[in-house]
Amino acid sequence: MKITILGGPGSGKGTLGSLLAEHLSIKHISLGHVLRQSKNADVIKTITAGQLVSDETAIETLQAYLADNRIDDFIIDGYPRTLNQAKMLDATINKPDVAIYLNVSTDILESRLVTRLTCACGAIFNLISKRPALNYICDVCKQELSLRLDDTVDTIKDRISIFERNIDGILDFYDMQARENVLLTIDASQNIDTVFRVVMQQIETITR
Ligand SMILES: [Zn+2]
Repeated sequence: MKITILGGPGSGKGTLGSLLAEHLSIKHISLGHVLRQSKNADVIKTITAGQLVSDETAIETLQAYLADNRIDDFIIDGYPRTLNQAKMLDATINKPDVAIYLNVSTDILESRLVTRLTCACGAIFNLISKRPALNYICDVCKQELSLRLDDTVDTIKDRISIFERNIDGILDFYDMQARENVLLTIDASQNIDTVFRVVMQQIETITR
């Protein structure tokens, strides 16, 4: 099964992706990881400079990565980010069987991001929907957690507004596809355990 997880920054895409990958035994990838593994020197140069690659480069790099690593089934989060990218992905053999949209209001996204806690080990928590078991201590590695300093209120608002400008086109596109059940819209204002349970139930319904 090929799954894409769509949602704004702070919607829980990465966390849901990891949980689904573990329970469905499907590889979890992100476009950022795929680009960093690229064998194309130009791609590496672009991302090292902190620039965005073109939509064409993104899809070509993703296709090459999946083919080289013989990956048939995957979960990708944060891609596609635009309608154009969604159309391009759909034109390949890697078009998603399921697109999961984590629907969260702007207010909730903002409040989650300003209360986001990150750990050096890569784990991410926030004080609202995914609290660590012990205050400010990582559940995974037990190190002390810190608030993310790059998440200023302005950059958070920018990231959310870019997302919101693009998401409706993507959702309409998946909604209008002839194949059934391609789009699952999930209320992701709930905590991540609940979101995960709901998504698993829906996926089981589809695959039954
Ligand atoms: Zn940790």
